[in-house]
Amino acid sequence: MKKNKRMLSIMTVITCLLVITTVALLFLIGPWKKSAETKESLSNGKDPTNVTTTLTEDSSETPPSITATEATSSTSEESTTEPTPAPTDTPTPTETPTPTETPTPSPEPTATPEPTATPEPTESTTETTAEPTTVPETTPEPTKTTPNPGTSYDLSGMVIVIDPGHQRHANSDTESVAPWSDEKKAKVSAGTKGVSTGRPEYEVVLEIGLKMRDVLQGMGATVIMTRTSNDVDISNVERAQIAVDNNADVFLRLHCDAGDSSSSRGIGVFVCSRGELADSQVKWGNWLGNCLAEATGSKYRGCDASTRYSGLNWATSVPSFLLEMGFMTNSEDDRLLSDSDYQMKICQGVAAFCYKMKQNR
Ligand SMILES: [Zn+2]
Repeated sequence: MKKNKRMLSIMTVITCLLVITTVALLFLIGPWKKSAETKESLSNGKDPTNVTTTLTEDSSETPPSITATEATSSTSEESTTEPTPAPTDTPTPTETPTPTETPTPSPEPTATPEPTATPEPTESTTETTAEPTTVPETTPEPTKTTPNPGTSYDLSGMVIVIDPGHQRHANSDTESVAPWSDEKKAKVSAGTKGVSTGRPEYEVVLEIGLKMRDVLQGMGATVIMTRTSNDVDISNVERAQIAVDNNADVFLRLHCDAGDSSSSRGIGVFVCSRGELADSQVKWGNWLGNCLAEATGSKYRGCDASTRYSGLNWATSVPSFLLEMGFMTNSEDDRLLSDSDYQMKICQGVAAFCYKMKQNR
């Protein structure tokens, strides 16, 4: 009996030890498994991309520390759950190496070569096209103003008195310089002489005057010459009287100028500063000078009004002009005045002026 009792107590102790051991094992394994499950649910439930982004954006944060705290908190809850050991789930930290997608920014440098420069050439082309349009506008002008050498004007109905100045032999007798003056002046002088041609003025002006007569008559004008020869004796007052007696629409006295300087050249016009037409004489004189300048290409020096010339002072009742066609003291002007083509240009300029005077009547 003693032996049985002893065996029974030993068996009881062993059984108790087994039970205690089993319970102890259950308590130990249970919480460990719980922590492993929470780890897994954490990584699976969250968006993996979010995890990786937080990882890469803030390298200082270490996600393992966060799971460690969660694990510790969960351990307290773990005791109630199943004690079944399942430590095989440990490989959860393997999701961290996913940040391989980060190198996104580089591949888009192709957008830089924009072809923005192309619209500029269109602007330049429009500019160039605009310039030629202005050119045709200027071209029609010359036909209006410049009378071509062959241009014909209708001078019908006009009476034009041409007085080639001077004569071969001067007449030093005197006559009144003006109707309103007692001052006396030589009747007529011989004029100047060409510095290069050597020709006398009276000869050159008659040559041009005769051509002018033919030109103006050809355009229908009635032309009266004060002289057609160099061998005459007609005073300046007598020549003016011819213009007055014929009621000239234009009384034109042809002369060549002489200057102290051989460089002086160009066209000059002189008119009377007194009389019923005095207010218009300078304006008309400028018409004459400009017509001559346009026809010949020579410089117009201007119109001077005075009472210096007896041949004008005695013809104030008609438009009267003393035209200096050029300087015989200038070699180039002198040469031109004896040039046939240039003489015709002078005649054309006078014709243009007479036509302007006709339209002004
Ligand atoms: Zn003269």
